[in-house]
Amino acid sequence: MSALAINPAVADPAAVAAAIARTGAILHGHFALRRELHIDTAVRFRAIGRDPDALAVIAAQLAGLATWRWPGARVLSPESAGFFLGAAVARLHGLAHAVVETDVRRLPTATLATGELAAGDRVVLVNDVGSTGAGLEPMLDLIAQRGAQAIGVLLFAVVGADTFAAWCNRRNLMGHHLTVARWGELTPGAATCAGCAEGLPLVPVTEFS
Ligand SMILES: [Zn+2]
Repeated sequence: MSALAINPAVADPAAVAAAIARTGAILHGHFALRRELHIDTAVRFRAIGRDPDALAVIAAQLAGLATWRWPGARVLSPESAGFFLGAAVARLHGLAHAVVETDVRRLPTATLATGELAAGDRVVLVNDVGSTGAGLEPMLDLIAQRGAQAIGVLLFAVVGADTFAAWCNRRNLMGHHLTVARWGELTPGAATCAGCAEGLPLVPVTEFS
């Protein structure tokens, strides 16, 4: 079973699957999603970011899900691995790209690192992986502070499509995801974790983002 299920709404799922496979972005091992949440599969989006052809396919298929009006919009992404995807989407549609700093846990902050955000800007948020979407809240805060307007969110992978959709609804955003991470068998703690039972070294997934 693949670690990432491709969104059935994607125009060319085979191209997406091939792009992901050839970059080696899917890792198998013993990973900590959070301290008490261990998983056996992780996505290293940076591997896709380093492959311009794969990234172009991913960006085009993800952006193709969006129904909003692209001209004049601005892309906002964090400076972590999501930066590559934000840059690729901006390139695809000839848009300006602004970037926020990340904190020590490599989560987006409300501090602009590069680019501009002005009052009245229509902003599309782009990131690699989101669990609920809530990690993007600081970026929404920044957009609100600047008097700009968030129109939508594009994520390479979500952990739960329903959870992400619910968050988008609450924030009144159009949200689209390319894949769903099959992290359904989350094994909290050592008692049920095969990696812990085998004594495998535990790697925080933030190492890869
Ligand atoms: Zn474990």
